[in-house]
Amino acid sequence: MASDQSWKEKYLQELESADNREKQWKAERNTLERMLVRTSLASEGQTPELDRLLERIRKDLRKNRVDVDAWKELQDQIDRQVALLDERESANDKKPSFFSRKSREPEPQQQQQQASPETPPESTAPPESAPGNEQDIEDNAQRLRIARRVGQLLGQMLAQVSLEPAAEARARALQQSLLASNDWDELREGLNHVAELVIAAVTRSKREFEAFLKRLDERLELLREHFSAQSSAQSGRLDASEHLDREIREEIERVGQRLQESDNLQDLKQSVSRHLASIGQAVGRFRSQESERERALSEQLEAMQEKVAAMETHSEQMQEQVRKERLRAMTDLLTELPNREAWQERLSFEYNRWQRYSHPLTVGVLDIDLFKRINDSYGHKAGDRVLQLVAREFRVRLRTTDFVARFGGEEFVVLFPETQPADARQVVDKLREHVGKLPFHFRGEPVTVTFSAGLAGFVAGDTEESVFDRADRALYQAKDAGRDQVIISESATAQ
Ligand code: GH3
Ligand code: MG
Ligand code: MG
Repeated sequence: MASDQSWKEKYLQELESADNREKQWKAERNTLERMLVRTSLASEGQTPELDRLLERIRKDLRKNRVDVDAWKELQDQIDRQVALLDERESANDKKPSFFSRKSREPEPQQQQQQASPETPPESTAPPESAPGNEQDIEDNAQRLRIARRVGQLLGQMLAQVSLEPAAEARARALQQSLLASNDWDELREGLNHVAELVIAAVTRSKREFEAFLKRLDERLELLREHFSAQSSAQSGRLDASEHLDREIREEIERVGQRLQESDNLQDLKQSVSRHLASIGQAVGRFRSQESERERALSEQLEAMQEKVAAMETHSEQMQEQVRKERLRAMTDLLTELPNREAWQERLSFEYNRWQRYSHPLTVGVLDIDLFKRINDSYGHKAGDRVLQLVAREFRVRLRTTDFVARFGGEEFVVLFPETQPADARQVVDKLREHVGKLPFHFRGEPVTVTFSAGLAGFVAGDTEESVFDRADRALYQAKDAGRDQVIISESATAQ
C-alpha cells in the first residue's frame, strides 16, 4: 500500500513544518507580547482608567490568556480613553500626544519598577513641552525604534503565517506605517492593531490546522472503509478485518473527540500523532496476521491439493483394481468366458427386463458330448484345449446381444434376448454344425467335437430357476435322443 505510506510521510512533513512554524510564532508572539507590555508601560500615566486597562492587558499577557473578544472590548475602552484624553489635551494645547506621556498625575511607583530599559525615561516635563526639548526628541527616537521593531516583527510574522486576504492587506499597510511613518497618531493606532493581527494569525493557523486534521480524519475514514470493503468471506480474515476496523474507528473517534475538546494546537498535534501511530500499529498487526494467515492457508491448500491428488490416484488405482477383480471374479480363467456368477447376474437382469416388457427371452444350456472320453483318450490338457476352442467359437459366433457363459465343466449357458426359442434354435444349430466341423487333431488323429443343447423360452409365471430347469431337461432329452442336437423344452407353460 504505497498510498498510505505517501500520505503518512506527507502528514509527518506537515507536522514538522507546522511545528517549526509554531515555534517561530511563539518566539514572534513572545517578542510582540513583550513589546506590548513595554508599550503599555510607556503609555502609563495618562488617566487612572487607561492605566487600569493597560494593566489588564499586561495581566492577560502574563497569564498567556488572550481572549480576542475581551480584547476587542478592551481596545474599544482604550480607544474611548484615548479619545477622551486627546479631547482633554487638545482642549489644553491642541497637541494630541498619547505617546508623549504628558502626565499630570503622579507616576505609580509599581509601574516604574516594572518598566524595562526600553521604556521611555520618566518625564516630569510639563505637557506643553516644546518639540525641541531634548528629552522629547529622545522619547520620539525611542518610540520610533519601538514602532520600527514592531513593524519588522510584523513583517516576519507575515512571512511565516497566512492571513485572510483582508487581514493580510491590513497587516501590510500597518507594517508599512510602522516602518515608515513618523506620525504618532498613525503609529499609535498601528501598535494597537498589532496584537489583534497576531491573534488573528494564530486563530487562522489553528483553523487551518483543524482543517488539516479534518482532512486527515477523512483520509482515515477512507482507509477504514477500504479495509471494511476488503474484508472477504474468509471468516478468519473477516474477524481480523473487523478487529482492525474497530480499532481504526475507535482511534478516529478519539481523534474527533480531541478535536472537539481541545483548543491547544500542541495537544492536538500530539494527540493526532498518537492516534496515527496506533492506527499504523493496528494496520501493521493486521498485515502481519494477514500474511501469516495467507501463508498458512496456502500451505494447507498445497498439502490438501497433494492429498487430493494422491487420493485421486489411489482412487483410480482402486477403481481399476476393483474393475479388474470384478472382471476376474466374473470370468472363467480357462475359457475367458463369463462364469457362473456373471451368468446369474445377467440372468437376473434379463429376467427383470422380461418381467417389465414381456419381450421374448430364451435360455439355452449346451453340453459337450462325451467329453469325458476326450479327457480319457488324450489327456486333461487336450480336454482344456477343446473347452477353450469351443468357447471361442461360441463367443465369436453368437450375436453380441446374446450372452454366453461357462456354467461349469463342459457345460455352457446362453441367454437370447428378444428371441423366441425357435429362432434361438436356428442359431444354436448353426453353431453346433460349425463346432462339429472343427478340425481337432490329437496324437495325429482327427477328433470330432459335438455338443447337445436344450432351449426354453420364458412364459408367464416363470422364474429364473424354472426356465433353466426346463432348458436343462430339454438338454437331457437331446442327450437321450442321441446327442449332437438341439431340443426346445416342450412345456409351453411354467411348472
Ligand atoms: P455327456 O455326453 O453325457 O455329457 O458325457 P460327458 O462325458 O461329457 O459327461 P460327464 O459329465 O460324464 O463328463 C464330463 C467330464 O468333463 C468330466 C470331467 O472330468 C470333465 N471336465 C469337467 N471340467 C473339466 C475341465 O475344466 N477340463 C477338462 N479337461 N475336463 C473337465
Ligand atoms: Mg458332457
Ligand atoms: Mg456335463
